[in-house]
Amino acid sequence: MSDTASVSAEHRRALALMAHPDDAEFMCAGTLIRLARAGWEIHIATVACGDCGTTTETLWGIAARRFEEAQQAAAVIGATYHCLDECDGFVVYDKPTLRKCVDLFRRVAPRVVFLHTASDYMMDHVMASLLGRAVSFLYGAPNASEFPVRAGSQVPHLYYCDPMEGLDPLGHPVEPTTYVDISTVLEEKARMLACHASQREWLRAYHGTDEYLDSMRRHAQMRGQQAGVAAAEGFVQHRGHAYPRNDLLAELFGSGGTP
Ligand SMILES: [Zn+2]
Repeated sequence: MSDTASVSAEHRRALALMAHPDDAEFMCAGTLIRLARAGWEIHIATVACGDCGTTTETLWGIAARRFEEAQQAAAVIGATYHCLDECDGFVVYDKPTLRKCVDLFRRVAPRVVFLHTASDYMMDHVMASLLGRAVSFLYGAPNASEFPVRAGSQVPHLYYCDPMEGLDPLGHPVEPTTYVDISTVLEEKARMLACHASQREWLRAYHGTDEYLDSMRRHAQMRGQQAGVAAAEGFVQHRGHAYPRNDLLAELFGSGGTP
């Protein structure tokens, strides 16, 4: 287990680019916490603003509330939250959204990126995944944006997070290439997720239990069982042409459970 890995100290920046506020907290916050503790600068971004996450509020009201909740969740680990301000249910792979994503990547210059899997049940997640994949490859090209190219910009280590329940859209299980042990940070992950009070409240009212946090814990325990630890997050690493193929997360945190 080495923290020297393949990224030098001044370039240790991680970005989770997801579709909605709370997606990163469900899917990869445990790993983000571990990266933050290892000295990495953490960025959490969402393509959409969460404006459909309500049954009672206006889209403006809920979007403003969810921006604050996402900022509070990020602040738990000293991370920065970015919102690309698209609308829930209308995330598409188009030129304006690609440009927003390129500009975000230009400012952050992440060396490890977390995205939804493209085999996700929710189309906003699929679109956000494709946007992030395209931009992770493109953003370092000087002509791709008017933002300057930061030192250290290069095609990052790219990991796809688990879909909800670890199932693809047809109900088949996704097999992680990489597990990260989050046993020691599970409660901090729950604290980040709990910052999304607007979502937790209506799910609690609907189910009569704290399903919001319980479902996260159940999934972490399921992945943990596969990895031989109490709680884990699962990822599939993108290892196509031009992408780093060494498993950075395994190098940083150990490869327990990696098939
Ligand atoms: Zn989502």
